[in-house]
Amino acid sequence: MSIITDVIESTKAIIQGMGVTLSYIPKRKWTVEYPDEPVTMQPRYRGQHLLHVDELGREKCVACYLCAAACPSECIYIVAADDPRPPEQRVGVDERYAEVYNIDYGRCIFCGYCVEACPKDAITHGYNFELSVYSRADLLKTKDDLLITKQLQSKNYRVARSHEDVDSEYKEV
Ligand code: SF4
Ligand code: SF4
Repeated sequence: MSIITDVIESTKAIIQGMGVTLSYIPKRKWTVEYPDEPVTMQPRYRGQHLLHVDELGREKCVACYLCAAACPSECIYIVAADDPRPPEQRVGVDERYAEVYNIDYGRCIFCGYCVEACPKDAITHGYNFELSVYSRADLLKTKDDLLITKQLQSKNYRVARSHEDVDSEYKEV
């Protein structure tokens, strides 16, 4: 290839690249000033899990281990215990409950299989995406971190309303 062809091809490539860059200038910007502005999450987003309770505040999890069995990353650790007290005084909805329920977010791939496997609707994905920590050990979340009644909710996100399709807005090219 001669040097002249080389220069022409390079100039064409630069003009094409600049054309793409310039075409974005008049378009609406989707940059979010996080954390000063809340990030908008899709309703289907899979963030940190939530362990749910019933209307009396009793834990829905019956420690059946189905979520742990379904987990491809083997990152759910459960210790079952019996609570023989009367139903209204129990920790959970059943005599059997999870005394320990840990999820290691160093391994979790947010596949949602645990949520699908649960026969009691005891676990779902929440929206918390702020899971960065300085120590790998801190990625291990315990029942107190996961229970919906105890999990600290960040103000740094909002969930998109049903008519908002954030994804397609971002996909606009
Ligand atoms: S989302 Fe997937 S990887 Fe994470 S705990 Fe559930 S089953 Fe395991
Ligand atoms: S979260 Fe659901 S699937 Fe997992 S142990 Fe509890 S009841 Fe069973």
